[in-house]
Amino acid sequence: MEKNYYVCTGCGLLCDDIEVESEKNIVNKVYTACRVGVAHIKEAKGEANFRVDNKPVDEATAIREAASILKNAKNPLIFGLGTSTDETQKLAIELARKTSATLDDTSSFCLGPLVEALIQDKVKTCTLDDIRNKADVIIFWGADPSDSHPRHLSKYSYFPRGSEKQRGWEEERTAIAIDIRKSHTAKICGNYFFQIPPEEDTEFIDALIAALSGKLPKTSYNYPPKKILELANILKGAKFGVIFAGLGLIYSLENLEPVFRLMKALNEKANFHLIPMVGHYNMRGFNENLFAETGYVNSVKFENGTVKHGPEYSVVESLKAKTVDAALIIGSDPLSSLPRSVSKNLLEIPVISMDPCETLTSKHAKVYINTAISGVESGGSATRMDGTKVNFKPVIETAHLSDEAILKKIMEAL
Ligand code: SF4
Repeated sequence: MEKNYYVCTGCGLLCDDIEVESEKNIVNKVYTACRVGVAHIKEAKGEANFRVDNKPVDEATAIREAASILKNAKNPLIFGLGTSTDETQKLAIELARKTSATLDDTSSFCLGPLVEALIQDKVKTCTLDDIRNKADVIIFWGADPSDSHPRHLSKYSYFPRGSEKQRGWEEERTAIAIDIRKSHTAKICGNYFFQIPPEEDTEFIDALIAALSGKLPKTSYNYPPKKILELANILKGAKFGVIFAGLGLIYSLENLEPVFRLMKALNEKANFHLIPMVGHYNMRGFNENLFAETGYVNSVKFENGTVKHGPEYSVVESLKAKTVDAALIIGSDPLSSLPRSVSKNLLEIPVISMDPCETLTSKHAKVYINTAISGVESGGSATRMDGTKVNFKPVIETAHLSDEAILKKIMEAL
């Protein structure tokens, strides 16, 4: 019997080998997924829910109110979309253009610059399938996929056998963790764990570059030069190496210049690639879709047919400066995730929250629309953390409308 596989949208890995047993549109069993994926897929339940001023309303009232908020705003903020499909993201860009909105996602304060560098071919990259098939040296830098992307090591980066890596991880792959703490992934890397002080990644990069060119590596925190030289020797011998760059690395850098320098130095001696550890399943899709439309990956403001770009149009700066007068938040919870000093300004403007889950933001929203969980209750397409396009169908039928369907209705009501 032919098996029916689904895609898990629980993280940026978009695992496409998930099997599900369901009955009467209730998911009973999920196979192959990790614990995060199982919880994500089983989350699908409940009735569609629309609220205005925290009181239940029908769909038409919620849509009308949402459209009226956007119509009356001079500079609405549209934010989120990392857990939305490509189709929804493209509609949101159209909506932002139509309403002269500021548009941003979480990448403006995390991996956006790195994804932009990849889109612009400034850094050598590859796919996760290349890693599984060929990689012999794998670096997890400021990343802990054992927690954040639980199937990363087993499906792609360390344990699996690949077409050119048939003998298994112990013999053919070296996994290295560079981090400020001994994470679960660092424990798996054993002796190849390099613990560095917080926010000292740039200095460690400089020391590593020195070691790669045979110089004595020095750091102000007296990291043992012998260990850095040993690391450099492993990296120099890589036939197919990769750095998985996590938030720990990105947050410690002022800009990406040290990463560019390291990649250049590594590729003078070996063959190295870089993949950002994208968390939300379609953050990279948002960056790519917005780039295709505007030439920017995030933090844009549409105005009279033009597009402006800059840090002042990021979610953090626009809320801080109070330049936005309404907000449409799609699949995100800025009231919980942004610093209170910034997010509290959301409480002063009308907010529309479209989210499959109740969040702090949805509880404080003027309008709340409980949308379908994409990948579980609605289908579409998305971009995996390595840039691979993935199409998916819903696991179950649901009464919830997708965020794409809701956005279409809001646009019609404008
Ligand atoms: Fe889902 Fe990510 Fe787990 Fe894969 S690793 S099953 S995509 S949560």
